[in-house]
Amino acid sequence: MLTDLLEHNVRWATDKREEDPNYFRRLSSLQRPEYLWIGCSDSRVPANVITGLQPGEVFVHRNIANLVHRGDMNLLSVVEFAVETLEVKHIIVCGHYGCGGVRSALDGHRHGIIDHWLQPIRDIAETNEQELTIIDGHDPRLDRICELSVSAQVASLARTPIIRSAWERGKQLSIHGWIYGLSDGLLRDLDCTVRGTSRTETPEGQGDD
Ligand code: ZN
Repeated sequence: MLTDLLEHNVRWATDKREEDPNYFRRLSSLQRPEYLWIGCSDSRVPANVITGLQPGEVFVHRNIANLVHRGDMNLLSVVEFAVETLEVKHIIVCGHYGCGGVRSALDGHRHGIIDHWLQPIRDIAETNEQELTIIDGHDPRLDRICELSVSAQVASLARTPIIRSAWERGKQLSIHGWIYGLSDGLLRDLDCTVRGTSRTETPEGQGDD
């Protein structure tokens, strides 16, 4: 029921004000998140909830299958604003296992305009065919494509003029590739972080992030 949502909102806002009378005044006067999240639209992967970040702490862009189309004015506007105005330090491209977008891209059926949107997924599957054919089982193969896609989107984002220009001007900015498990609620770092112009592998549990 929609009224439930509105009633919940009133309770939430009241609780927040009781905890901290200046909470909304402070939040409305300034937005300075350190992170830009580029994730899937899937309702089970909400950036704030799974990372424990509060309102004001993460700038979010979501689309089906968390793709970085380099002609996507919506995404590029978000990235430019995040990098140039908010001056985020980290961009996280986050995919998830069991992604319906990835599954739809490869099921051989026609779905409509989404087929055009998901073309990069088919390209990734084709490029990595050799690796994928030796994986046993359809779902594990799709999950590997989810991982490969995240790495490809990180690389694609790193090549945009917005990011190149930021790095040329010495801005501190890293792009990370993560993947989320719907079945265990855990995020995994895919170790495809890009900092500046050099690609670095960050061993698990190490590094500054
Ligand atoms: Zn998805």
